[in-house]
Amino acid sequence: MNLPEEINIIEVGPRDGFQNIKEFIATDVKIDIIKRLIDANIKKIEVTSFVNPKLIPQMSDAREVFQSVCDKVKCLVLVPNLKGAEMAVEAGAKIITMVISSTESHNMANTNHTISASLKEMSEISKICQSNGVRLRLDLATAFGCPFEGKVSIRSLKNIVYAAGQSGIRELVLCDTTGMANPLMVEKTVKELGTESGNIVFGVHFHNTRGTGIANILTAVTLGINNIETSVGGLGGCPFAPGASGNVATEDIVNMFHDMGIKTGINLNKLLNCSRYLYGLFDNKLSSHTLIAGTTYSGQKCLEGVKSERNQIG
Ligand code: ZN
Repeated sequence: MNLPEEINIIEVGPRDGFQNIKEFIATDVKIDIIKRLIDANIKKIEVTSFVNPKLIPQMSDAREVFQSVCDKVKCLVLVPNLKGAEMAVEAGAKIITMVISSTESHNMANTNHTISASLKEMSEISKICQSNGVRLRLDLATAFGCPFEGKVSIRSLKNIVYAAGQSGIRELVLCDTTGMANPLMVEKTVKELGTESGNIVFGVHFHNTRGTGIANILTAVTLGINNIETSVGGLGGCPFAPGASGNVATEDIVNMFHDMGIKTGINLNKLLNCSRYLYGLFDNKLSSHTLIAGTTYSGQKCLEGVKSERNQIG
């Protein structure tokens, strides 16, 4: 296996995870969870998204959450459009991730834009970012399959990757939004895009909807992809597959890579403590394996003695 010495984990639970929880999580609880993740030595966290609060009320405290933690860790924030990007820049964000879907119907469902309208906004957002010293990344959603259109052609991915490069974007995340990827598809996609992407660095973001998330991450890592987005506790979900599991759990990936001698810089015990705390808050929303089984060699169950603290959700 072709493996690196170290991988970069980007924690997306506070955005991708919280966004999928219906009850509003009190702002101070969100901030507390992010601080626990920082304490576990996670260096990059997607802390919130700047979206229309009427459409996603869970993220209506984006500015406050961001500003409470932005001096403590590298904060990423997600935006679906120009308005969101303007709000994020105004709040002081230094790393913004725009999201565009690979398929028209998903992009319309997610952002109410055609792909070409989103690409036009991407170029405007990029200019705003450049003049404010902000780094712009792109999340390419439904990159491995679309719940409405099924298989996604490499050609449509290449078109968006090319446009991103033209807009000055240097970091692009291939997102398996609804867990439709498999390792062979990951290999084909990464190899095809890698040959035409110029100086874009790729990351990956796999939902574990059908249990293929870890296999997909490992495949991507053996192909040289080093930026891996995961979510503490496996928080998250899929709006098109109710009840489906969320992102691959950060602790499952950290546990596996540490066992393989690959560094992440993350303190696994502290991360598991954070996950245990989340279990108390959102017990039926977690899909972490290591949380239940314990780390490979600890022999200690992580969930012993955990009581529900649901009243803290607010
Ligand atoms: Zn996601």
